[in-house]
Amino acid sequence: MPVWVCYHSAMILHRGTFAVVDDVAIESNIRNLRTLLRPDTRMLVAVKANGYGHGAIAVAQAVLRAGATDIGVASLEEALELRCAGIRAPILVLGVVPVAAARTAAEHDIDITVSSDWQPVLQAITDGGVAVATALGLAGLAQPLRIHLKYDTGMARLGYREEAPLLAWARALQGESSVTVSGLFTHLASADVMESSTAAEQLQKLADLVQRLGAEGLRPAVVHAANSAAMMRSDAYHLDMVRVGISAYGYRPNPVVESPVPLIPAISLYAFLTRVETVAAGTAIGYGGTHVTTRRSVIGTVPVGYADGYPRWLSNRGSVVIHGQRAPILGRICMDQLMVDLTDIPAAATGDCVCLYGRHAPASWTAEAVWRKTRAGAPDFAEDWLLRTYQRETSPAAVLSLDELAELGDTISYELMCALSTRVPRLYLSRYNLFDMPIQPSV
Ligand SMILES: *Cc1c(COP(=O)(O)O)cnc(C)c1O
Repeated sequence: MPVWVCYHSAMILHRGTFAVVDDVAIESNIRNLRTLLRPDTRMLVAVKANGYGHGAIAVAQAVLRAGATDIGVASLEEALELRCAGIRAPILVLGVVPVAAARTAAEHDIDITVSSDWQPVLQAITDGGVAVATALGLAGLAQPLRIHLKYDTGMARLGYREEAPLLAWARALQGESSVTVSGLFTHLASADVMESSTAAEQLQKLADLVQRLGAEGLRPAVVHAANSAAMMRSDAYHLDMVRVGISAYGYRPNPVVESPVPLIPAISLYAFLTRVETVAAGTAIGYGGTHVTTRRSVIGTVPVGYADGYPRWLSNRGSVVIHGQRAPILGRICMDQLMVDLTDIPAAATGDCVCLYGRHAPASWTAEAVWRKTRAGAPDFAEDWLLRTYQRETSPAAVLSLDELAELGDTISYELMCALSTRVPRLYLSRYNLFDMPIQPSV
């Protein structure tokens, strides 16, 4: 029996807080998004920040099963984690990698981004006459380092702002055996702002540079620009590869951007009520007593707090779903717990399942039921049962959307999903395949 099964089941039973990651939905999102692309367009999926909180390794496996060709991460550390987990697909580090780490990247077959922080190396090569392999510490390696040149066409974040050094890099590395220029890319600042022409202007700058490189026979094989928003905006942005992040996880870059294909949100956060108590009118709730009840109230305690990545700014603002009904959060969210108003949900009892976001919990989900399943069978039986009932009894139509929570804090779904802490065990729907019949995408 794989070790992870016992570990996760034990975690659920001990605290009663867990997330379901519907990686089957992620696969279906990728298949749907792929229909927007020409068949030969590459699709990189960004799994940085632990797969936007969903789990980098599981997401990488899911998207590669579904037809993604490349994986994107923010750092060399994130790339190495995936390589160590046996992911063989091309991995591109979208953030900076210091020159000192170039050799490590090459040794692990990881593509890296070259931005202006590497300018001293370019100068050493072009002006100082230093050999490329020496300048980059690559001497003696069997395989070349693969780089993507980054052009800052308007984001003002990473890359070169001018064409000249990018042309100089391409010329300096022409015919070089220790380094291959695999790609050239830019990042769009406002692709999700429909009325903005910035994205089109950025694309034009990139196209101009590609033309100049092409004239010298130096066009890199993979030119790319599109994030999820640009991919949905127009196929003019697709170029040789798109880089999708948020849409793989079932959310739109911005709730006003329409997706041309169905997307299913993949992540749901749940916890079992640890206490249900009736208090008198005038009772102060939580730290600082920031909420005082105005009526005799039923207060539910939920074992989720800001240390789990459920933000404290939702104090006295957010709500959860229990028995399909909304329960407002009362008082300040604590590190590990929060309190909700159950006065209008008389059926709610200790052990009932609360949905903090994602799909409403099946009615059968209670702490008691999980304990019973665990006693009844193998250590993984409770997890198997949770995933089976998720598959059969939840619906993408009954969800508490991260977009709704994000709006309450003037932020975006990205921030909330990335925040989900590593101490929250994640159950992966596709692993249910191990125990039962194959499952279909849950559309
Ligand atoms: C994260 C990231 C993406 C993905 O963006 P989404 O808006 O999530 O689709 C694309 N490109 C770069 C450079 C990124 O860092």
